[in-house]
Amino acid sequence: MSAETQPTQVADKLVVTIDYTLTVEGEEVDSSREEGPLTYLHGYGNIISGLEKALVGLKVGDQKQVTVTPEDGYGEYDEEAVMEVPRDQFPAEIPLEPGIELHITDEDNETMHAIILEVGDDIVVLDTNHPLADQELNFDVTIVSLRTATKEELAHGHVHGEGGHHH
Ligand code: ZN
Repeated sequence: MSAETQPTQVADKLVVTIDYTLTVEGEEVDSSREEGPLTYLHGYGNIISGLEKALVGLKVGDQKQVTVTPEDGYGEYDEEAVMEVPRDQFPAEIPLEPGIELHITDEDNETMHAIILEVGDDIVVLDTNHPLADQELNFDVTIVSLRTATKEELAHGHVHGEGGHHH
């Protein structure tokens, strides 16, 4: 077995840590300043595809402005993702008012984000499009660090945290 070399450029199967700011229509909507740098396993679709592609080959310390179209970001706005749900399917404690954001868990245990558009006597109209659907995303990214992934991380397809990870 050959000695492991320290990776120098973003590539598949590397664990990449980035600082980023996401701006949409001139407004900052997300930034690692609040939650700290983002660490992800490159090449496994853990971040949106348009951003992942744009970071390939960057070195630690490099900064890049990346513009991501909706197709490579959070998708086009889908009319079919607007749905009517019978009002009696909502637990009584949920306030049903337009503009309220909900997180819904479906049969497959996938969590969906939804916004209430309308509340009728019998039905509630939900929009399950991603809030950033149809938007051009502008990322300002700095590569903070790179490391090789562990075998377990590659098998799982995601990064494991410092404090151990169970599943
Ligand atoms: Zn895992």
